[in-house]
Amino acid sequence: MLPIWGSEFALGRAAILAESLVVCPLSAFPQGNKVSSHRSCSDYDIMTKEVMKSVDKKKNSYRKKEDSSKRPHKGPVTHNKKRKEPPGNKQEKSSEPVWSKSKKKRMRGLKAKQAKQEASASSPSESLPKADHKDSTAEPKKQDQTMSTLQKSFQDRLSGSRFRVLNEELYTQPSWETFQKFQANPELFDQYHAGYRKQTEQWPTNPVHVILQKIQNYSSQSKSKTPLVIADLGCGDADIAQRLREDTNFRVHSFDLVAKSELVTACDMSKIPLESQTVDLAVFCLSLMGTNLADFVREAFRVLKPTGQLFVAEVRSRFESKESKDDLLEHFLQVMEKLGFTCRKTDRKNKMFFLMEFEKNGNRPDPKLEYTAKACIYKRR
Ligand code: SAH
Repeated sequence: MLPIWGSEFALGRAAILAESLVVCPLSAFPQGNKVSSHRSCSDYDIMTKEVMKSVDKKKNSYRKKEDSSKRPHKGPVTHNKKRKEPPGNKQEKSSEPVWSKSKKKRMRGLKAKQAKQEASASSPSESLPKADHKDSTAEPKKQDQTMSTLQKSFQDRLSGSRFRVLNEELYTQPSWETFQKFQANPELFDQYHAGYRKQTEQWPTNPVHVILQKIQNYSSQSKSKTPLVIADLGCGDADIAQRLREDTNFRVHSFDLVAKSELVTACDMSKIPLESQTVDLAVFCLSLMGTNLADFVREAFRVLKPTGQLFVAEVRSRFESKESKDDLLEHFLQVMEKLGFTCRKTDRKNKMFFLMEFEKNGNRPDPKLEYTAKACIYKRR
């Protein structure tokens, strides 16, 4: 039907408009006197509200159109006393008086019966013939389904865009800025993780599960009688702590920008709230994100015991370039050497990510070294 296609088209346009706003020149979103080099999430809030308003507007106008186009074909409409009959709609008005007396009586009986049934089914107090009642409710229901499918796909696109913007910000800003922003707007964390979960669902293997397996192997080989102390740095949903919470062989500290559960402590991991040399195993699972990556590694060095281990999982594309498969990874490993860690194992089995195991090399980390790895930009799906 034309109206459906019409509104679908308009919604499609709105979605495309929203998408194009996402990729439009960043100067289109001025922030005070500054022209930000990154898209602001509050712009997205405004944009979402505006577009959702337009979706609702479309929905209402579509309903109104549908109501007015359908009613004249439905025969007498007796349920809505307030409704104004269109002038000159004499056919409708005159249809009842032409019934014979006995037919009128039968119809009255039927209507009364119908009303009784409806009242007992706690439906609105309307005395409609069944067919009319059914028709008048069935259509909006169908519309709602159509619209909610459209709205859902539209919302999916917006939430995908939102995730990509936040992801880019996390990779391209210093961590203290993102920490402040996430602390002030904790809902950004949920938005980020809704998108992140969608991404990981499509991966054949989630690196955090591989790390969990390694931790369990590592502990079974350890002769220590005290629990293995783990620091999960940039823990997200705190999968490691969740899985090991009942196991007395482990004590897991989980950190992230926002604490969404009692297992997590909110912090910027360039300042980890733990005593020096108290951790056996530190984990960065896809979390080396800010531009001040060297600060995170120095902090991991500080909290790790002299015999401590560091596990790092990172997306391959961050350490691979078109020209060379290894140069960027080599560079990263050299940086890690200067920050006090030697890589003793690089697991390249997985197509999506590297898993690297480090140990302290006996040198103090260079306090001045700065390093930013290539950002991991997720593609639109
Ligand atoms: N390690 C988890 C989550 C990975 S997503 C997993 O594998 O499932 C990356 C996480 O790192 C995000 O939750 C993000 O908020 C967190 N993160 C990024 N920079 C951070 C910082 N400076 N301090 C604390 N957490 C950070």
